[in-house]
Amino acid sequence: MTDNEKYIKEYLSKANIDIDDIAATRFLQFYERLVEKNKVMNLTGITEFEEVLQKHFLDSVYGLGQYIEPAERILDMGTGAGFPGMPLKILYPEKEFVLMDSLNKRLLFLEEVRVALNLELLSFVHGRAEDLGRDKLYRERFDLVVSRAVARLSVLCELCLPFVSVGGYFISYKSGNSEEEIGDAQRSISLLGGKLTDVRKFTLPGSDIQRSLIIIRKEKETKKQYPRKAGVPAKSPL
Ligand code: SAM
Repeated sequence: MTDNEKYIKEYLSKANIDIDDIAATRFLQFYERLVEKNKVMNLTGITEFEEVLQKHFLDSVYGLGQYIEPAERILDMGTGAGFPGMPLKILYPEKEFVLMDSLNKRLLFLEEVRVALNLELLSFVHGRAEDLGRDKLYRERFDLVVSRAVARLSVLCELCLPFVSVGGYFISYKSGNSEEEIGDAQRSISLLGGKLTDVRKFTLPGSDIQRSLIIIRKEKETKKQYPRKAGVPAKSPL
């Protein structure tokens, strides 16, 4: 193992996340490809090694274990440069992941990463959540849907809950201060068949970054009229 691989292992282990050597190598390869591609494509504003470890890798995987472990098929909506989907996939290589985004060039980059890291059961789907959420290949086909930094919760629920199968979960990554957003999203959550079951608040280890994970359980099928046409959820949230 190289020093950087060891560093990644130790860094995550301090946050009680134990990874094997293969995962450490994959995290490093992903980091190297991310900063390299970032020179010619806008992928991330964060490129310094330690900062990527913290704000992208650790932030993507911290606090999710109990929800990831029982899930078999996981969707990351609005994955961008692969967050939180890629770090989660590296941590759980045996689970099936689908990463969606409306911007194809980032998905093409992620496909290159997938090949280089030799990851299977990982696919990328280009399109808008409002359209893909009506496609029977994806609608109510995931045990878990995750999403970070894509939209306000009231909007995000309409983009994400249609993909969750009944009994599954939608987890939204929000900042520490999420009460107002949660209040605004109550109606949307219940109209789409969800129920807020938990808000997990914590400080990301080794930092002063406050996080809330909003945990929503899918209780009922989502009615056929949702999601509405592309752009409508953001323009007039439920
Ligand atoms: N999740 C990543 C992260 O945390 O670094 C990327 C966040 S970036 C600010 C938001 C991403 O959501 C963009 O890549 C954008 O293309 C995607 N996005 C926004 N609205 C979307 C929609 N309606 N359907 C699919 N993707 C969408």
